[in-house]
Amino acid sequence: MSSKEFNFEVVIIGGGPGGYVCAIRCAQLGLKTAIVEKDQLGGVCLNWGCIPTKALLKSAEIVEYVKKAEDFGVKVGKPSYDLAKMTHRSRDVAKQLNQGVGVLMKKNNIKLFSGEAHFIDSNTIHIDNVGNLTSRYFVVATGASPRQMENYETDGQMIWSHKDAMMQQSIPNSLLVVGSGAIGMEFASFYNALGSRVTVIEYQDNILPTEDLEIAKMAKRHFESKGIKFYPHSTLHKIDKGKKELTAYIVDKKTHEIEAIQVSAALMAIGMVANTKNLKLEEVRVPVDKQKIIVGDFCVTQQSNIYAIGDVNNIAPSLAHKASHEGTMCAEHIAYMMGKISHKPHQMQYSNIPACIYTNPQIASIGITQEMAKKQEIDTLIGVFSAQGNGKSMATSEMSNFVKVIFDKKTNELLGAHMIGPHVSELIQIFSLAKTNELTANEIIATVFAHPTVGEMIHEAVMNAYGRTIHM
Ligand SMILES: Cc1cc2nc3c(=O)[nH]c(=O)nc-3n(C[C@H](O)[C@H](O)[C@H](O)COP(=O)(O)OP(=O)(O)OC[C@H]3O[C@@H](n4cnc5c(N)ncnc54)[C@H](O)[C@@H]3O)c2cc1C
Repeated sequence: MSSKEFNFEVVIIGGGPGGYVCAIRCAQLGLKTAIVEKDQLGGVCLNWGCIPTKALLKSAEIVEYVKKAEDFGVKVGKPSYDLAKMTHRSRDVAKQLNQGVGVLMKKNNIKLFSGEAHFIDSNTIHIDNVGNLTSRYFVVATGASPRQMENYETDGQMIWSHKDAMMQQSIPNSLLVVGSGAIGMEFASFYNALGSRVTVIEYQDNILPTEDLEIAKMAKRHFESKGIKFYPHSTLHKIDKGKKELTAYIVDKKTHEIEAIQVSAALMAIGMVANTKNLKLEEVRVPVDKQKIIVGDFCVTQQSNIYAIGDVNNIAPSLAHKASHEGTMCAEHIAYMMGKISHKPHQMQYSNIPACIYTNPQIASIGITQEMAKKQEIDTLIGVFSAQGNGKSMATSEMSNFVKVIFDKKTNELLGAHMIGPHVSELIQIFSLAKTNELTANEIIATVFAHPTVGEMIHEAVMNAYGRTIHM
């Protein structure tokens, strides 16, 4: 079949941040494009992930401000919280953005098919309630779903998935969070701010196991000071469901001791599983590893006309901006392969992807941790800077601010940056720009940072790595 005989030049399966961004870029490049979505445009990110959680966490941030108001000379009465209203606002924001993606599809002349798709052959898919569709290229962007814990099916009432955690109408007296990754800790932070007694269990020795150890330890101390209780190196032995409460039996991996605690609800936040089960990938000989689609450069699978982007492929991290960037890259690669553009697109640098956790305080990072540098036997220069030396942190009483930078001693290349503080998810972009553009320490030091800002801590941390700190 020649390209002209196919229904489309590119069909994208899945309308999350990977899929819809890919579709828009394909359309911009003049490719006849369709997108298939079985549920809601915007995927997990806009509907059940990044956005609604941040809407809820904004409420928690306001709660925290109100609690501290008197310290700033502002008198307010005892605050009360309306979780139903917070949830309603969060759903409203998600709905607005989901509708916005629909508008973007129309604006870019992208044909939307509603239904679940699976492969028939490498140029044909079947969409439930629609029929068969042919295309020269396919991009699989079907994302991931929460990992279910054996024996503990989530029920929305007492045992929650992340979806349940953002749909509650009343604040639980106590909450057990199983898993201390970004998702678990964001909900732990949210419910703790609203007054729930929060307990977190983590299988690894440290919470936030992918973060730089020094930052993870600092974060733990901040969370503990707010009343969150942690059980590291522990797992859930079993849960007994009572009428009003759960009894959770927590087993310490090291001592094998079991402790029983009573909680109103438990949130299962033990990771995500790639959505590949129903795609019939065996029909097109696209291999998977632990349910994730194996991809090479430009996210091409073993079938050269089938790409896989975002949470469904086997490249970490599972983050929305990684999915979107892969979407852009693979759209440009398809256009290049079809002769629509003459230059080969850039291959994505996965070591330059920032990651943010929107707890209170926030955590943000890019590149390798100090532990990774040690493991890789890289000779490093480490620089740190804390809030005590930063005027803006003092003025705003944001004393959790801390920045750590890791440079290669031989080349002065920035290898990693790690931050904690109330707004570090905004500040990490400075390191993204620096790292992507391979700025050296000298170039960052030669940059003028506005005063008074928390951003000055970046400047100082870099100078600290070279023995030049001013304010410490
Ligand atoms: C609670 C939570 C908070 C998060 N917070 C953040 C954050 O702050 N920042 C961040 O970067 N990331 C965050 N993430 C992760 C982020 O949501 C994902 O990395 C991102 O959504 C992945 O995008 P994607 O396009 O690969 O897949 P998804 O967003 O999962 O979209 C996949 C889409 O494909 C559709 N689909 C699946 N199978 C089929 C099929 N066979 N046919 C048709 N359609 C199909 C699905 O319905 C879905 O709409 C969070 C995740 C969760 C759960």
